Amino acid sequence: MDKETLKKYRKAGEIAAKARNFGEDLIKEGRSYCEIVDGTEKKIKDLGGKPAFPVNLSINDIGAHDTADVNEKRAAVEGLVKLDVGVHIDGYIGDTATTVPLNTDKEKLLKASKEALERALGMIRPGVKISKISSEIEGTIKSFGYKPIRNLTGHGLGKYDLHAKTKFPNVGTDLDYKLEKGDVFAIEPFATDGSGKVIESSRAMIFKWQKEVPVRSREGRKILRMSKNDFDKLPFSKRWLKDRISRLRLNMSLRELTDRNALYRYPVLKEVDGGDISQAEHTVIVDEKPEITTKI
Ligand code: MN
Ligand code: MN
Repeated sequence: MDKETLKKYRKAGEIAAKARNFGEDLIKEGRSYCEIVDGTEKKIKDLGGKPAFPVNLSINDIGAHDTADVNEKRAAVEGLVKLDVGVHIDGYIGDTATTVPLNTDKEKLLKASKEALERALGMIRPGVKISKISSEIEGTIKSFGYKPIRNLTGHGLGKYDLHAKTKFPNVGTDLDYKLEKGDVFAIEPFATDGSGKVIESSRAMIFKWQKEVPVRSREGRKILRMSKNDFDKLPFSKRWLKDRISRLRLNMSLRELTDRNALYRYPVLKEVDGGDISQAEHTVIVDEKPEITTKI
């Protein structure tokens, strides 16, 4: 990895870590989703970064992809509150998440994902098979008496790319990939007291550019243009469009774009049996001496 690239990964990681810690402090009983999510995204920008995706705020049995909606009324009240923050500097990404226990006695579930992440990070070396680390994540979570979420995984990171290289599963697999020096991975164990799988719910507030297609409506064309030029083909939220697209047309335009596969949609993911979920995540650069960019 060249010096300039490394510098940008480090900066993105540092801002993501600071914004995550800032957001973590915002999570208090009764705080609205808007305050937490908007506050954390503002922090990213104030520190000189750009969100690599909308800040995710997923509580209890929601595993990922929840965030504040347009006209959001929800507040954080109790449970395992997961805050997932992504930052990029010129496309180089830092991705990190933490779980805050709010009026809940499920601290042990939180420890399971944290411990699994620490053990995984301790095994990062060039030449090590991802499958070996995935098995360690699975074993660690099971040793706490819980299950890893088998269909939520970590992932490689590349320039403007949240899914580079390969997945980084949280259960043992037959994946042959061996880590290489200079690889960047986000590792994110999810632990649950449910059955270990998430399913898509009907709601989605996060979208991403997918392909160029002819679009009939003016608003649809505008959103598609913004998804490329303003959001760099990275995930964006409906909330980011609310002041730029007429509210009346927003849902209709998003539906048109997803129906035509111009945009990819990220449904809110929930545990299939309603189990609670904890998550811990860091970004790491693979080396003989690996560098965790999102730890401060
Ligand atoms: Mn993340
Ligand atoms: Mn991630």
